[in-house]
Amino acid sequence: MNQIDSRTILGVRKLETKLSGAAPKLRKQRTLQRVVNCVGVGLHSGRSLSLTLKPAAANSGIVFRRTDLPGSPDIPARWDHVVETAMCTTLGFDKVVRVATVEHLMAAFAGCHIDNAIVEVNGPEVPVMDGSAQPFVFLIECAGTVEQDQPQTIIEILKPVCVESEGRIAELVPSDTFTVDFEIEFASVAIARQRMKVELVNGTFNREIARARTFGFVEEVEKLRQLGLALGGSLDNAVVVEGDKILNDDGLRYDDEFVRHKVLDAVGDLTLAGGEFRGAYRGLRSGHQMTNLLLRTLFADPSAWRLHGGAAAMPARPMAAAKVARRA
Ligand SMILES: [Zn+2]
Repeated sequence: MNQIDSRTILGVRKLETKLSGAAPKLRKQRTLQRVVNCVGVGLHSGRSLSLTLKPAAANSGIVFRRTDLPGSPDIPARWDHVVETAMCTTLGFDKVVRVATVEHLMAAFAGCHIDNAIVEVNGPEVPVMDGSAQPFVFLIECAGTVEQDQPQTIIEILKPVCVESEGRIAELVPSDTFTVDFEIEFASVAIARQRMKVELVNGTFNREIARARTFGFVEEVEKLRQLGLALGGSLDNAVVVEGDKILNDDGLRYDDEFVRHKVLDAVGDLTLAGGEFRGAYRGLRSGHQMTNLLLRTLFADPSAWRLHGGAAAMPARPMAAAKVARRA
């Protein structure tokens, strides 16, 4: 047993589970019951932004709409429309038609099992709110949800897929349920080493993950501001760390809020796959870029996954995505 990589053991054990497992049980797709709206500041632009969530037809997925641009262009919330992953996840087509900081809202949709919605925003990013997904979960709960007459989409992982870069790892392995296992390590003792493994079933996301806020270091924030970024960032929408200290007066919402937020980000970024995973994600010092690269690598290999249920999530242009992945 010595010398055997624990990840290999996990992969083999889960593969055996899958081979003996039944087909996944599919719930019906869900959308919002009514239109809801909120206003908040953009983390990077510092602008006041309006966000409106609207019901959408079955099999349409989550679609962002830039109402401030001519023709109000739509941007589907999908992994192959991710154009930037520095600091946050940005979807779009070019330098203008894009929307940034989508991941916390996408995580809230996943936590509330919303498959279809139109997200109208009147600027270049989703408002950051308090830096967590909780305000979006609240907004979705205010809207209410309705079942639709189509089965949900499940993406079943058939074999382990892994990407690695400079000590960072992101991987998906077969599993009967959607599980996220995340580990981070920072020099600051305020964060240090944290690991969380969580099975995202029966409302776990909304109860244990949604309230975890994004975080940043004072030194980085100052550098970003000089570049015209993080202009809306403050102690109201992030945990701010200076050296080994946390600057927020009220401290943390959880002792391990940092790794919980990384789980939140991973759920949001994985939701861009267009369905719910029947598989386990593991991230070691991973982030937006690694998770998107993982999805591109997964969908470039048709033998690594299988779709169940609705057609909305059928990944488009897997070959083009594979080219992007190699360049990244
Ligand atoms: Zn985040």
